[in-house]
Amino acid sequence: MSHTATTQDEKQLPVVGDRHVDPHSYPDGIAFLDGQYLPMSQAKISVLDWGFLHSDATYDTVHVWNGRFFRLDLHLDRFLGGLEKLRMTIPFDRDGVTEILHNCVALSGHRAAYVEMLCTRGASPTFSRDPRQAVNRFMAFAVPFGSVANAEQLQRGLRVAISDKMRIPPASIDPAIKNYHWLDLVRGLYDAYDRGAETALLLDFNGNVAEGPGFNVFCVKDGKLST
Ligand SMILES: *Cc1c(COP(=O)(O)O)cnc(C)c1O
Repeated sequence: MSHTATTQDEKQLPVVGDRHVDPHSYPDGIAFLDGQYLPMSQAKISVLDWGFLHSDATYDTVHVWNGRFFRLDLHLDRFLGGLEKLRMTIPFDRDGVTEILHNCVALSGHRAAYVEMLCTRGASPTFSRDPRQAVNRFMAFAVPFGSVANAEQLQRGLRVAISDKMRIPPASIDPAIKNYHWLDLVRGLYDAYDRGAETALLLDFNGNVAEGPGFNVFCVKDGKLST
């Protein structure tokens, strides 16, 4: 009786299409994932990760200007606070996360970078529906800095449309836990584009300006700055 010890991973499976395999379709940068530093083109997670399937994740983003982090401590505070509120654990303490972020930036060589730390609920080998069985997954990456507005828009300002989609309320999702609940923001963006605008502002349930897709809004009125 012949027996070939092929695991499912080693089987020759058909390849159909190559839309996402070109390494040049990824921004130039370095990620930390599952204990390794990788080019962005290789930083991939399972489709069974709860972060992907259920937006069960938290993150924070910190900017690097002229080779230095801007207010890293405050971003770490918020990220570590989010992990605690979501009952996620990672195998690194604050100093460990700090070191990983520094390494991502150093290995990337970027002097102006968009640096993200994130944690997903992860997945369980049995595809359990109990979030407590998932192994949480910490990752980080450094890519070139990208702004909400391009150079021309920074000069002249952005045309905004007030969306009729209301921002998910703090009673549902504590906005201090940074999250990927973005369907309201993305639908707001498409509505804005349809109306000839360039970005959207979403209101809260009381009709106050809440935020835009990934940015806070500041207002100067009667010599006073508010947000
Ligand atoms: C992070 C984030 C912002 C910006 O918040 P900061 O406190 O300026 O970092 C705005 N909107 C959303 C949806 C965000 O995730």
